Amino acid sequence: MLINCDFHSHSGYAGGVGQISLLDLEVAMEKKGIDVFGTGDCLHPQWREFLKDNLVERKEGLFSNKDNKARFMLQTEVIFTAAVGSGRKSVHTVILFPSFESVENTCKLLDGMGVKNTIGRPFIKCVDRVDVSNRLSKILDVDDKIEAIPAHVMTPQGVYGSNNPIDKMKDFYGAATERITAVETGLSADPEILSLIPELDDYSLISNSDAHSAALNRMGREFTTVDTTSVSYGNIIDSIRKNKIARTAEFNPTEGRFFLTGHRAGKKGHNDAYCVFSPKYTPKDNKCPICSKKLTIGVLARALQLKEIQGGTRQFGELSPSTKDFVRMVPLVEVIAHSIGVLSVVSVKVVELYEKIIGIFGNEARIWFEKDETIRKKLASAELSDNVIENIIKVKNDDFCFSPPGFDGTYGKFSIGGKEDVFNVNLISGYVPGQKRLF
Ligand SMILES: [Zn+2]
Ligand SMILES: [Zn+2]
Repeated sequence: MLINCDFHSHSGYAGGVGQISLLDLEVAMEKKGIDVFGTGDCLHPQWREFLKDNLVERKEGLFSNKDNKARFMLQTEVIFTAAVGSGRKSVHTVILFPSFESVENTCKLLDGMGVKNTIGRPFIKCVDRVDVSNRLSKILDVDDKIEAIPAHVMTPQGVYGSNNPIDKMKDFYGAATERITAVETGLSADPEILSLIPELDDYSLISNSDAHSAALNRMGREFTTVDTTSVSYGNIIDSIRKNKIARTAEFNPTEGRFFLTGHRAGKKGHNDAYCVFSPKYTPKDNKCPICSKKLTIGVLARALQLKEIQGGTRQFGELSPSTKDFVRMVPLVEVIAHSIGVLSVVSVKVVELYEKIIGIFGNEARIWFEKDETIRKKLASAELSDNVIENIIKVKNDDFCFSPPGFDGTYGKFSIGGKEDVFNVNLISGYVPGQKRLF
C-alpha cells in the first residue's frame, strides 16, 4: 500500500508561529492527503509532555489525537555542530523514534552529554567528526528502529551546505555515516539536483515540509509516498531503509530560498539592491558586486561543485538509478490565489475555492497524480473559472517557474507558464546608496 508521509515539522518551541494544535494538524492532514506526520520537537520537555498527554498509540509506533487514525510519528530535528576545516559546521538532522520510551531514553542520553533541550531543535556540540559519529551512534543505539536523516542537505545548514563545505558525508558524520540510509531533499533541492552527487546513489531520497504550522501552504508542501505492507512505524522505517519509496512530491527547487548564488535586498550595505547569479556568472572571487562581502553560494553551484569533487559523470537532468518518481508542485492555495489575483492564501475567496476542489477530489495530494482530462472533467461541475482549472493542470505538468529563482534566504517569485533558464541568470538590481539605479 502507498501512504503519504511528511516526516519533518516543528512545534511552537522551535521558534516561528505560536503553539500548534494537534487538532488543526489533523484537519490539515485530511485536506492535504498526508497519512503520517512527524510531531516535531519531541525531545522538548513541554512538547513531549503535551504529546504524551494527548496522543494514543494506534498502530505500532504511530499515534493519534482524537480519532482512530494512526497519524503521528515521534520526530525531532537536532543540530550537530563540529569543527570542520578552520571553522565550525552546523548540520541539521531529522530523527524518528518508534516509541515514547525511546524518546525518553534519548533525552536522558542527551542530558548526560550536557545538551540543552529547552529549545525545539537542540544543539549537540561535538569536537570533530569522530565525536559526531560517537554521539550519533549512541543515539541510534538507544533503539535499533531509531532513524537519523540528514535534513535539507543542500541548504547552508545541511550537510552539503556552503558553510564550511565538506566533500563527502563522512567528513561530517564520520563512521556513523554507515548507519544513515536516507537523506532529505529539502525545499531547495530535488532528485534531479541530488542526482549530480554520486555518493547519494546509495541513499533513499525523502522529502518533507519542515513546516512550522498547520497552514495549507506549509504542512505537506513536500512529502514522501512510501510503499509499505501495513501502516506501522517499523514497516515505514523498513521501507525507507530499503528504498521502497514510491515517489516524492517536491517543491520546485528554484523556489527554495538558497537555489542560486547572491545577496538579498536589505543586507548591510544593500538597501533595496540585490544580486543573483547562475554558476557561470558568479564573480570569480565570490564577492558581492554591491557590498564586496562573500556571496551566499546557492544549491545549484554547490551540487555542481560536489559533482566535480566526487568525480560525477551525470549531466544535469540525468537521474541516478536509485531515484524514484517525483513531481514538483505548488501548494494548491497558492495556485488558486495566484490564479484569481489575490495575495493572501487565507482570503475568503481562496479558502472557498480550495474547499470546493477538495470536496471533489477528497484531498489535495490526489490532484497532483491525476490525469489532465480527469481534472478537467471533475472540476467542470464545480463552476470554477477556466483560469483556475488550467493553472492547476499547468502546475501539475511542471509548466511553472520562479523568476528570479530563490537566493540568499529569498523565495523565488512564482509564475505559471514558461521556463526560467537557471543556468542563465545574471542580475544586479535595485538601488545602491550613493550610486545611480542599476536597473
Ligand atoms: Zn532544519
Ligand atoms: Zn552584498
